[in-house]
Amino acid sequence: MAKIHGKGVAVKPAFPDATPRKKGVPSNGDKGLLLYIHVPFCQSRCHYCNFHSQAFNQVTFAWYHKLLLQEIELWGKRLKKPVLKTIYFGGGTPSMIPLQQLSMIMKALEKSFDFSAGMEVTLEANPDSAQDVSYFRALLSMGFNRLSLGMQSLNDIDLHAMGRPHSAAMALASYDAARRAGFGNISLDLIWGLPNQKVKTWLDQVAAVTDMRPEHISSYNLTLEPNTVMGKLYGDQSEESEFKLPPEQEQGRMFIYGAEYMESMGYMHYEISNFARMGFTSTHNSGYWNGSDYLGLGPSAVSTIGRRRFNNPRYMDEYDAYVRGGLVGQDHENLTDDDLLKETVMLSLRTSKGLDLKDFKRRAGFDLMHRKKQLITALHREKLVRISHGFLRLTKNGMLVSNVIIRRLAFDTD
Ligand code: SF4
Repeated sequence: MAKIHGKGVAVKPAFPDATPRKKGVPSNGDKGLLLYIHVPFCQSRCHYCNFHSQAFNQVTFAWYHKLLLQEIELWGKRLKKPVLKTIYFGGGTPSMIPLQQLSMIMKALEKSFDFSAGMEVTLEANPDSAQDVSYFRALLSMGFNRLSLGMQSLNDIDLHAMGRPHSAAMALASYDAARRAGFGNISLDLIWGLPNQKVKTWLDQVAAVTDMRPEHISSYNLTLEPNTVMGKLYGDQSEESEFKLPPEQEQGRMFIYGAEYMESMGYMHYEISNFARMGFTSTHNSGYWNGSDYLGLGPSAVSTIGRRRFNNPRYMDEYDAYVRGGLVGQDHENLTDDDLLKETVMLSLRTSKGLDLKDFKRRAGFDLMHRKKQLITALHREKLVRISHGFLRLTKNGMLVSNVIIRRLAFDTD
């Protein structure tokens, strides 16, 4: 999921207003707001994770819940009950929210926002806190129609190495229970590039997962964050280190063969890490990549409305002051034309659709193909990008080095 976290630093009050985006800069173009709710609680800390979350306890959760309900009401009033296109509960572990409190959140949302017909409503769930058919039935009755299940691996050794608080059997049981309850849109998260993983063992997992026929698969490369258990253990990949990840070339093969296998099984590779069966791309995440406006609620959540980007305070006491103060004290920035254009390049090149060159020229006032001619010619020669029907796209090999290509295209001044 597209989670953007930032430590909130209280500055001056700043609220979105009805100011439209200036003509000529990226805009969402379609109606409705994406709503993200951050749930900062987990059973324990996974060894690779640096998302904002803390161990669940009743007292802190009750505090959070009360503030979240207030924040929902305040934003609903501030934005005059806007239409929502999607709701996404992410975290953290949203499936740790007790059903009664979750129902209260959904009711508060319904009161303060306008739900669009057929709105996508997603809950991220972890197998350790979502096992029963009755639990999933309750979610459906509240209006959830999409589930993102944190399976991560079907191998218990991998799960143990990642510090996940569930086994493969629990993940399968959770998936099965959700299906039996009637969920018809389930996304499974997987992580590749793990210690001791081989191309073959990864492909065996991909085959097992595609055989389960989830509607959507998010397949992420392990990222080593410096302040995590795995980051500290595997951060040094020099010759001398005894803790090794699969070599770069092997990881490259995992990405390409895994993606090709999923495509052969009917999954469209629509974003670097995301695959979907026909009709099941994620509306919420696609909205981020298309530059739609989004409102983030809860500690550390980020919003972008028009040209303004807001960062909610990260810690509970700051979040408390911010909500009780009527949404005052939120860290924010005003996005410039240049910021928005860079984000367009950055986000659209992550998708299989790619960057619309004509549209970019209209907004930017210059032709990217002309300005970056040498670079794009070299990337094309190396088969890292393709240009067709007016779109610039990354090839699968290009996706492997997407960060470098995007930086050169969007940020370097050559
Ligand atoms: S469950 Fe998710 S958010 Fe929580 S610690 Fe693990 S990876 Fe992080």
